[in-house]
Amino acid sequence: MKRIIIIEDELSIAELERDYLEIDGFDVDIEQNGYTGLQRTLAENYDLVILDLMLPEIDGFEICKRIRRKKEVPIMMVSAKKEDIDKIRGLGLGADDYMTKPFSPAELVARVKSHLSRYERLVGHKDEGEEDIKVKGLVINKNARRVYLNGKEVAFTAKEFDLLIFLASNPNRVFSKEHIFDRIWGENSFGELATVAVHIRKIREKIEKDTSNPEFIETVWGAGYRFTI
Ligand code: CA
Repeated sequence: MKRIIIIEDELSIAELERDYLEIDGFDVDIEQNGYTGLQRTLAENYDLVILDLMLPEIDGFEICKRIRRKKEVPIMMVSAKKEDIDKIRGLGLGADDYMTKPFSPAELVARVKSHLSRYERLVGHKDEGEEDIKVKGLVINKNARRVYLNGKEVAFTAKEFDLLIFLASNPNRVFSKEHIFDRIWGENSFGELATVAVHIRKIREKIEKDTSNPEFIETVWGAGYRFTI
């Protein structure tokens, strides 16, 4: 059974969300306190986090940031303010989705399912003991979702890792921005094509010696990107 944590100070909203998710067979916990919610998310193994933005003491932005430092779990952020979406994007918090209140519980459930299945597809087959990808001092450990450069671990956000592993698993093939966006973010996901370029840039800053002359992820002008080995 998939486990979901709802971090939301308004109990009536949290309970409504929980009721709908439970009907669909999810195991749901509610935390009304941001700090406790954060600690619990880090300490336990949830499959997805539904995170309200406006919480007393510690807000959803900060919680999202702190979860991302440690975990790849999908995070859906919820807020009453539409303008928060720009802030979430601008801050690059690593949230997977965003919903504005009020939303229909059915839509929430649909989005939860879609994020869970995408995450499963990307992480996939945990028990099959897939081999690490090793290229020129770069080691990508699929199972642990960790990246090492010359023996030193490099921190990756969930989407950066998804993108890197996707390209590296299909070496020397060119993928368009559209293809990458659909694969990593999902066709109906919020976000724009420019997101792909932003993530490529961030990955290059982490693994390339010279970002203007990349040796791992090449730009193929007019076509897209290619991971070269
Ligand atoms: Ca709130």
